[in-house]
Amino acid sequence: MESTFICPECRNSINVNDDIVLIAKNDLGQKGIVMLHTTLGNYESKFSSDFTIMEGDKVKMLCPICHHSLSHSKNQNLAKFIMINEEGKECYIIFSQIYGEKCTCKIEEKEVTERYGEHLNRYTDPDWFLWF
Ligand SMILES: [Zn+2]
Repeated sequence: MESTFICPECRNSINVNDDIVLIAKNDLGQKGIVMLHTTLGNYESKFSSDFTIMEGDKVKMLCPICHHSLSHSKNQNLAKFIMINEEGKECYIIFSQIYGEKCTCKIEEKEVTERYGEHLNRYTDPDWFLWF
């Protein structure tokens, strides 16, 4: 069995096989569908064709089912969702909402257990992940 990704708000599953399906909203208020890879550290992403985004743009990620914002409560540059691994254990995944910024953390029991991305050093505040 593979990992499942769920919305922290409605707890519905948000991945389809290897794609995590989210709604992205840009600064112009445009909305589009974004697909992120389920492999942590893989920054391939796909956007719906009419959604305009450029490197460095900040978007807001929303749950595709309940439309709740996935933004981190302490840092709006970051978003989060829940990953349930093969053993049924839940952890949080925190990732950057800035297009092109590579920064992902896996948090289990309030500790960062995995880190990915070359831009991690932009988030050095030790408290930023202890928000829940
Ligand atoms: Zn939801």
